[in-house]
Amino acid sequence: MKLVSAKPMLEKARKEGYAVGQFNINNLEWTKAILTAAQEQQSPVILGVSEGAGKYMTGFKTVVNMVEGMLDTLNITVPVALHLDHGSFEGAKQCIEAGFSSVMFDGSHYPIEENIAKTKEIVAIANEKGISVEAEVGSIGGEEDGVTGTGEVADPEECRMIASLGVSMLAAGIGNIHGQYPENWQGLNMEVLKEIGETTNNIPLVLHGGTGIPNAMVTEAISYGVSKINVNTECQLVFAAATRAYIESGQDKVGKGFDPRKLLKPGYDAIIKVVKEKMDLFGSTEKA
Ligand SMILES: [Zn+2]
Repeated sequence: MKLVSAKPMLEKARKEGYAVGQFNINNLEWTKAILTAAQEQQSPVILGVSEGAGKYMTGFKTVVNMVEGMLDTLNITVPVALHLDHGSFEGAKQCIEAGFSSVMFDGSHYPIEENIAKTKEIVAIANEKGISVEAEVGSIGGEEDGVTGTGEVADPEECRMIASLGVSMLAAGIGNIHGQYPENWQGLNMEVLKEIGETTNNIPLVLHGGTGIPNAMVTEAISYGVSKINVNTECQLVFAAATRAYIESGQDKVGKGFDPRKLLKPGYDAIIKVVKEKMDLFGSTEKA
C-alpha cells in the first residue's frame, strides 16, 4: 500500500470516537517495529519524523524510500501516513517535496498573525498534493529537538482562527508536555480542551506528549475530540530498558549474541508491545 494522507484516517477517528497513534521513528528497527505492530493490530498508524531524526537518518528522502520500501516488502495493508513532527516552515516544504504524506508546521512560537500567514502558505502547497497538515496553537511544554515550549494553555479563539485555515488537524497546548511528566503535574486541562473542541468545527485534535498521561485521562481527551495522540518517549524508554537488560544479563557475550540483529531484538520487541498496547488504549485496533 502507498503512503496516505492523515486527513481521512483522522476524520474517521474523530467521527467514530477513537484516536490514531503517531509513533516517532529513528531508524530501521523503529520503523519495522511500528509497521509490524500496526499490521498485526489492523490499525491505521502515523509514523512521526522530527527534523532531527530526519537529519539523523541522512535526510527526508532516505526516510521516504525506507518507509515505502517496507510498506512493500512487509506487505503492509493498513493505512500509513508519514508525517513531519514539529516542522519548521522550510522543513515542512522540504518534506512535501521529498514525498511525505503529511506534515506538521509548528508556528506556535510565532505571534498569532505570523502563525496564521505561514500556516496558510503550507496548507496551499500541501493541498495541491493531497498532503495533510497539522498546525499548532499554544506551545507544548518540554523539549523536542531543541524546540522548547513552556506548556501554555492554548486560547480557544486562536484555535478557531487556525482551524479555519484548511488544516487537517490541530495541536493545542492543554497542559501536556513532551518527555516525562513531573511528579507535581496538574493533568490535562479538560475544560479548555472541551472549549477548543466546540470552537473548531469538529476538526481532529492532536494530543502531543502522550507518554505518561494516565489512561483514564487519555480516554476522556478522546471523548472531547482528540483523534491523534503522539507517543515518542515511551518507545525510547522501553527500547533502552530492554537493551540494558540484554547486555546486563551478559547475553551479548553468549555465542553470537553480539550480532546487532540479536542485540537490537529485545528493544525491537519492546516497541512492538508498547505500540500494540497504545493502539488498544486509543481504540484504533481493528479500525484499518
Ligand atoms: Zn510534540
